[in-house]
Amino acid sequence: MTTTRNSRPIPILMYHQCATPPAKGTPFRSLTVDPAVFARHMRWLKAMGYRGLSMRDLQPYLRGEKQGKVFGLTFDDGFVNVAENAVPIMADLGFTATNYFVAAQVGGTNAWDAEKGVPTAQLMDGAQIRAWAKAGHEVGSHTIAHANLKECSADQAREQIGGSRKMLQDVSGESVDAFCYPYGYYLPEQCALVAESGYTNATTTRRGRVQPGQDMMELSRVHVLRSTHFASMMIKLFTPREELRGR
Ligand SMILES: [Zn+2]
Repeated sequence: MTTTRNSRPIPILMYHQCATPPAKGTPFRSLTVDPAVFARHMRWLKAMGYRGLSMRDLQPYLRGEKQGKVFGLTFDDGFVNVAENAVPIMADLGFTATNYFVAAQVGGTNAWDAEKGVPTAQLMDGAQIRAWAKAGHEVGSHTIAHANLKECSADQAREQIGGSRKMLQDVSGESVDAFCYPYGYYLPEQCALVAESGYTNATTTRRGRVQPGQDMMELSRVHVLRSTHFASMMIKLFTPREELRGR
């Protein structure tokens, strides 16, 4: 097990879509952050002296080799609206991010959420993923089929985790080293499988900042939702308290 060696808690922000949120009452509406709001979050963090980094760029800080005012910046699922709306904002500020792509849905949609009534949204295709990487951002994996790993056999999990890495490396031409568990679901033994498959880090949906000594294959994140207010974001990111679970 590889653990982090950061001396202070490091926040890793979790975003999904960056677009005008759908109508009130739409399932998972909270996962869409308006571009103007995203821009405010990022500019505000920049004004506080913080730099947003992809999981790749965050590694030296997680390993305790570097200290500084940094936070991890992650997007789940690979939505086109992130390329369209978030990339220009990040470029302005010199921030980088990791997007976790679903290998069998390159150029597809968030079809796995359709049965819950979540509106269909377009996911980046191969050219868009390569442009994402070329702009300095990181290509991470979110399995082949947005799999619920808790329901996978050992062989299925190995395929979803290791197979998606290979597929996304083929698409992007980059090493894929960052993994994210779909729905935040996984079995304890699957953390070792993620490491064996060649990833150096994996994020969960467990809430909170990365505490010193956390397992690199089970990194917690700070959820940022449509309605997250500055004040509560500030508390989530920067209070000196050790644990803020449930916020
Ligand atoms: Zn997801």
